[in-house]
Amino acid sequence: MAAAAAEGAAAPVAAAMRAVLARAGRAAERSGRAAEAVRVVAIGKTKPVSLLRQLYDAGHRSFGENYVQEFVTKAPQLPEDIRWHFVGHLQSNKVKSLVGNEKIANHLDRAVVSLGREPLKVMVQVNTSGEESKSGIDPSKCVELAKHVKLACPNLILSGLMTIGMKDYSSTPENFKALANCKLEVCKALGIPTERFELSMGMSGDFEQAIELGSTNVRVGSTIFGPREYPNQKQN
Ligand SMILES: *Cc1c(COP(=O)(O)O)cnc(C)c1O
Repeated sequence: MAAAAAEGAAAPVAAAMRAVLARAGRAAERSGRAAEAVRVVAIGKTKPVSLLRQLYDAGHRSFGENYVQEFVTKAPQLPEDIRWHFVGHLQSNKVKSLVGNEKIANHLDRAVVSLGREPLKVMVQVNTSGEESKSGIDPSKCVELAKHVKLACPNLILSGLMTIGMKDYSSTPENFKALANCKLEVCKALGIPTERFELSMGMSGDFEQAIELGSTNVRVGSTIFGPREYPNQKQN
């Protein structure tokens, strides 16, 4: 039954995407912005290329992946005009010191040069909830790392800040408020106009609240593509 529906003219993912865009647009308007001020990145991790293709065929162009291996396997199988957002964790195995994040930025900066690529837009992940399970730098380190990227990494363009925040968003809007506050500090310290600096926050369970708190980039997976199944893990 599901397969038959997917073969039909209107792909379920396209309908789900339209619903997400409508909800995101209304949230943007509640925050005094135009619907176009918020980008919805469709996070396709664990989902087959065929499903992503359905969304592409429906006109969507911003896609994201979370695992390097999956990203490098899927991207070449899809059209080149997709705007990819890699939203995973980059780590430097050797570096566990305080300067770790600066070193990762330096590695990326040099990789852009050696690949002969255009400067790469990057966002810095901030751990706004303080949970050990979450990646990202402490909010107090934002300005320092942002300065490093701006001054020492000519091939990186710092386009914004990103966070995940706690799962139970409803009790923790302060995670998103903390990121909005980091943005103000970074913009002030580096002289960046706030309207030119992005906030990537909000996922399936909390993207509307994130938009109301200033998000310009929401990363939505399961609400578009359906729940994820991990073969070796119980689903949560
Ligand atoms: C998986 C993932 C998402 C999407 O999560 P959903 O809850 O399915 O919308 C967003 N951001 C990151 C970093 C992710 O890894």
